[in-house]
Amino acid sequence: MEDVQDIIKKNNAIAEADSLIVTPKNLPDDISQGVTKEGAIRRIVVDRTACIGARPCVVVAEKLFQVDDENLAYVVDPNAVDQETIRMAAESCPVLAILLYDKDGNQIFPN
Ligand code: SF4
Repeated sequence: MEDVQDIIKKNNAIAEADSLIVTPKNLPDDISQGVTKEGAIRRIVVDRTACIGARPCVVVAEKLFQVDDENLAYVVDPNAVDQETIRMAAESCPVLAILLYDKDGNQIFPN
């Protein structure tokens, strides 16, 4: 099975390399992110400095989010669920540690 750190690195690298999706300014230092192939939400970012491991994001979208050994959430597969589910998962986070952006780097959630 793929190591969690490898999944985080892979998804971060794909997101950073995607020149069609603008990188937002002021992203947190420790993030796990993923970019989607279509829809209004193009970048999903978990602020791992804010995450408290409460896990509702995993309950709402287990194919999108999981928590690692340190109980910090990470993006598993940004294209595993639909846009509505991405948003519901972000809204479920009690500390608003999941940030959503459009393709131009504008923050969609929280807003
Ligand atoms: S819901 Fe928020 S605090 Fe809980 S694991 Fe997910 S990102 Fe972390």
